[in-house]
Amino acid sequence: MNKRDFLKNSLAFGAGTIIATPLLSAFTSADQAKKLSGSALIGSGKTAASEFTQPKLDYAFDALEPYVDAQTMELHYGKHHAGYTKKFNAALQAEGISANNIEEIFAKVSSYGSGVRNNGGGYYNHNLYWQFMSPDGGGEPTGKLAKAIKKSFGSFSAFKELFSATAGSHFGSGWGWLILNQDGKLEVISTPNQDNPLMDIAPVKGIPLLNIDVWEHAYYLNYQNQRTKYIAAYWNLINWDLVEELYVTSA
Ligand code: MN
Repeated sequence: MNKRDFLKNSLAFGAGTIIATPLLSAFTSADQAKKLSGSALIGSGKTAASEFTQPKLDYAFDALEPYVDAQTMELHYGKHHAGYTKKFNAALQAEGISANNIEEIFAKVSSYGSGVRNNGGGYYNHNLYWQFMSPDGGGEPTGKLAKAIKKSFGSFSAFKELFSATAGSHFGSGWGWLILNQDGKLEVISTPNQDNPLMDIAPVKGIPLLNIDVWEHAYYLNYQNQRTKYIAAYWNLINWDLVEELYVTSA
C-alpha cells in the first residue's frame, strides 16, 4: 500500500481496516500493531465485545517528578482519565454504538452526541499522552524522525519553539499535537477540548505522533497559571523512541 492509500485507509477507515483492535490499529500497519502489542498502553483499549478499558500506567505516579508531580498524575490518571473512560463507555451504550475500534468512532464522530466526542477524545488522547511521557525521556529525536523534523521545520529547536508556542497559545482547554498530515508531512496543530486529529470534525486531520495536554488540570497544582513552564518541562519527558516508531511505521 502506498502512503496515500495508507493515509486514506487510516483516516477514512475504508473496508478492510476494521479489525479487533490494538489501540492504534487503524492508523498503524499490521506490523506496527503487532510490534506495539507488547506495550501495556498501546496494546490495550477495547477487547472484542467489551468496554474500552483504561490502560495501566507504565510508571509510578511520582516517576515523572520534578517535571510532573505525583499528585497531578494521581488525580489526572485516577480521576480525570478514569472519568472520561467511564463516561465514554456510558455514552456508547446510551447511543447504541458498537464499533470494533475507536478510530472507527472518531471517523464519524460528528454523527454522534457530544458525550461520545468529548469522552472518547478524553479517553484516547490521554492513552497516548501517558506514553509520550517517560521517566527516561527527553533529549532529542534521532534517525529518520530527526531528519524529517529538520526538513519540515528547519531544525529541532525551530520545531520545539513552534510546538511550544502552538500549545502555549492555544486558547482555553485543549491539546498540542505533532501529526503526520494527509499529505504525509509533519505538521504542528492544536485542538480544542478533547478533540483530536483523527476526528472527522478536525479542521486538520492526521496521524498523531506526539501530543501534550494543555488543560489546566494537567499542570495547575505544580505550575499554577504558568502553562509555559509546564510546556518547557515536558521536553524533559518526551519518549522519542515511541514518537520515532510511530513516525517510521506511519510515513
Ligand atoms: Mn487531561
